[in-house]
Amino acid sequence: MAGLSAAWRLSAPGWRERFDSITVYQRGWRLGGKAASSRGVNGRIEEHGLHIWLGSYENAFGLLRECYAELDRPRTDPAAPVQTWDQALIPADNLGLAERWGTDWLVWLGTFTRNDELPGDPGGTGREMTAVGFLQRALGLVIDFAESIRDPLPEGLILSGSPDPPAGADIAGVVRRGVLAALLALTEAPPAGTAAPELLGTVLDAIRGALDYEKRPEHKRSWLLMSLVTATARGILADQLITDPRGFRAINDEDFGAWLLRHGGHRDVLEFPLIRGLYDLVFGYEDADPRRPAFGAGLAVFLTGLVLFEYKGAVFWKMTAGMGDIVIAPIYQVLRQRGVTFEFFHRLDGLHLDARHQAIDAITMGRQVRLADGIDHYEPLTTVRGLPVFPARPLGDQVSASDRARIHDWHSLETHWGREADAGNRVLRRGVDFDHVVLAVSLGMVDIVAKELVADRPDWRDMTTHVRTVATQGLQIWLRRDEPSLGWRGKPAVTTSAYLPPFETWASMAQTLWAEEWPDDDPARTVAYFCGSLDAPWPIDEDPASYVRRCEERVRADAVKFMNRGIGLWFPKAVSEAGFAWDLLCGQHVSVNIDPSDRYVQSVPGSDRYRLRPDESGYDNLVLAGDWTDCGMNAGCIEAAVRSGLQAANVLLGRGRHYGIRGYYLP
Ligand SMILES: Cc1cc2nc3c(=O)[nH]c(=O)nc-3n(C[C@H](O)[C@H](O)[C@H](O)COP(=O)(O)OP(=O)(O)OC[C@H]3O[C@@H](n4cnc5c(N)ncnc54)[C@H](O)[C@@H]3O)c2cc1C
Repeated sequence: MAGLSAAWRLSAPGWRERFDSITVYQRGWRLGGKAASSRGVNGRIEEHGLHIWLGSYENAFGLLRECYAELDRPRTDPAAPVQTWDQALIPADNLGLAERWGTDWLVWLGTFTRNDELPGDPGGTGREMTAVGFLQRALGLVIDFAESIRDPLPEGLILSGSPDPPAGADIAGVVRRGVLAALLALTEAPPAGTAAPELLGTVLDAIRGALDYEKRPEHKRSWLLMSLVTATARGILADQLITDPRGFRAINDEDFGAWLLRHGGHRDVLEFPLIRGLYDLVFGYEDADPRRPAFGAGLAVFLTGLVLFEYKGAVFWKMTAGMGDIVIAPIYQVLRQRGVTFEFFHRLDGLHLDARHQAIDAITMGRQVRLADGIDHYEPLTTVRGLPVFPARPLGDQVSASDRARIHDWHSLETHWGREADAGNRVLRRGVDFDHVVLAVSLGMVDIVAKELVADRPDWRDMTTHVRTVATQGLQIWLRRDEPSLGWRGKPAVTTSAYLPPFETWASMAQTLWAEEWPDDDPARTVAYFCGSLDAPWPIDEDPASYVRRCEERVRADAVKFMNRGIGLWFPKAVSEAGFAWDLLCGQHVSVNIDPSDRYVQSVPGSDRYRLRPDESGYDNLVLAGDWTDCGMNAGCIEAAVRSGLQAANVLLGRGRHYGIRGYYLP
């Protein structure tokens, strides 16, 4: 996504006055990287991983809206079933959190209120997310929350443990007074001999005493939310984030949970589903170990604010088909229209420095396959139900007959461990084949393709050492019955989190079924996407083939175990004592994301300071693009990738880094 975003801005109308050509080199046959998806059996959408957009992704929405406007499908492709950006992504307000209650699990359902705004409005500038703004909104949230438990039809945020909130549970007054008291504890000078956290603790303990904390989930949630917000507020004030020029960054060396405890948060807050859901959102566990949560505190506070308080329209937006179909293919189509060249089946092997170590002098590449005679440009899209999409394998007739016969494992063209021999090599030379380079592989691949640079510069070494990645796994299942008859009691189109590893997150994706081609006599009525992190260390000290095999076997075994033992929380009628009712299943797709470039880029404490900005490569003709750069939103997400790509382009265009970037976040 970052590379495409850079190409997007570089190729804005008039680009030929600046550049002779813009070329995107891509290994394999699909674009999109972690955001890629393609179509398999029955036209089913096969994703790299579950993707939801936040209503605060101003730059990503802005780009996509420009893209659909320029693509102008009503004129150029009136038969395509997705014509406009708002048919491509639709609001998704329903949230669910899994909550451990004794030895059981509860499902905590919530709905976020919509607002009248739309993300990515043309000309929008985004907003600034400040510590003060965060404080104001967070305290308001606690009061709204308590009100919502009392009032079955509130105006604001609704979060309740069951779809039928308990009547007459008047804890709103307790919480309102509690917030005021806690605020006083934060702002007033404590009585002589009392430290502020102690005073805060006393106030919160008193409130807890007035609630039925041990027996009533909604009381416990209310109190934990209060403990969370007051600890955050206290931390913001005590660590002077309001005046610190580094803003939220000032606390990024500390883990969020540890920071909350240091500022008086109760221990139980660490198990609070909202907190666990936040860690799940960013795969924030060292080596995928749920016992080792790792998420920089500043970024955690900042992201919480962005998710909860800065959304436009809806808190989440879901794609109405695959991310490859809805986002990546349209961007590709417009870039082609603009004259950008795509070289598929080109695997970057190395960037090579000039003698003075000031610039990239040569680029070496493996040419994975040759194109068929008479084809000088591989066209990667096909259509399913009239929608341009990427297929699950290359479109064979465009590949030379000899390579078609030679290659058995097409998937291996997309991985570092591909066992298929190359059809040839390519060396690009500075001044002949290129002038400027945008490096847009993901962080896990940097050590491999930029070996010379990592050896040359300590800041590159620091970055690749301290910024961490984690493998992930995705499971998609298609079922023959609809969600209510599988036992789901919540609203449709929910997104849930905070459940058991390895599939902590579940999103209901029934809104994509129209785009697939299930047989009329055996249609899929439910499609569920699950994902989570995967304990697969990198770099490895074992034979790559056995590493890949071991990880694949493990993910399959985990998926079966999850279906038999875990999925019952969401779909109780799909399981019995004997496990999952397998006859319900009409399709499944598993994604084992262990390739170095596919590893998710984390935001572990102490790593933020080592990220390089898109303009900080240290080499004259190289800029960096990816969610791993320091782009002002240093978390692994689509918005970060887009921001980074746009910034990389700004540098090449001689503009300021923030030119045309919406939202001014981490300074
Ligand atoms: C399971 C999962 C779920 C996620 N869910 C969400 C979500 O819900 N919402 C959200 O906002 N974000 C989500 N993300 C994060 C999001 O996918 C990433 O932040 C984003 O896609 C990163 O984009 P990128 O361009 O920086 O990197 P990548 O997508 O990794 O792109 C790197 C590109 O480099 C190419 N490449 C790598 N090596 C080579 C080579 N040697 N030669 C040629 N090409 C090469 C790759 O093929 C790819 O095209 C999720 C990530 C994962 C793993």
